[in-house]
Formats: sequence, C-alpha cells, structure tokens
Amino acid sequence: MEGDEIMEDTKVKVNIDDKLYLNTYNVDTLSHLAIKDQKICENCKEKTCTFICPARVYECKDGYVTVGYEGCLECGACRIACSHDNIDWNFPRGGFGIQFRLA
Ligand code: SF4
Ligand code: SF4
Repeated sequence: MEGDEIMEDTKVKVNIDDKLYLNTYNVDTLSHLAIKDQKICENCKEKTCTFICPARVYECKDGYVTVGYEGCLECGACRIACSHDNIDWNFPRGGFGIQFRLA
C-alpha cells in the first residue's frame, strides 16, 4: 500500500541508550531512593522495579534488591509501579541528580 510505504519511509529509530548518554549527573553521596523492607522484596513475585526502570537502577540477586541510585532519571515510574509501596522515593537534594540534555 502506498500509504504504508510513506509511513515506513518516515519512521525514525530512537536508541534510548544514545539519548541517555547525553545526560550528565551531579551524584550525591546520599541515596534519594531506598527499599523500605527487603523482606517484602523477597516475597514480591512481580519484581516490577527490575524491569520498569529505564535506567536499570534496581537489580535483584537471590531475592535481595540493590538500588543503583546514581543513574536515576527521576521519572518516578518505580514509585508508582511497585505494587507493595516498598520504595522510599525522594528527589535528590538540591543541586544533585540528573541534568537533562536533549538532542
Ligand atoms: S517491585 Fe517493590 S516490592 Fe517488588 S522487588 Fe521491587 S521494590 Fe521490592
Ligand atoms: S525514578 Fe525512574 S529512573 Fe529513577 S529509579 Fe525510579 S524508575 Fe528508575
């Protein structure tokens, strides 16, 4: 179909890793994210935080969830997605965190 061919020609592929590479961080020594209770994570079947985060901040090893807060994009998705309300979520302290650069 002609219309489909036109749509195909105008598609632009976006690589999220390339986009994220443009951002810079002023990393705080204090984490602005924390797991409230690791026992709840142990029993959490969904482990939504490990796949919802675009920056792959959360990792689960043997039931224990680690938080690599340094790469956080401050999007808030993990706070909403954790069905157990088990993430203590704050913005980084003033002057710290991500500085977005768009290209
Ligand atoms: S989704 Fe919430 S409860 Fe489940 S592993 Fe992640 S932080 Fe823990
Ligand atoms: S706020 Fe967004 S980027 Fe930061 S840890 Fe949560 S999901 Fe990941």
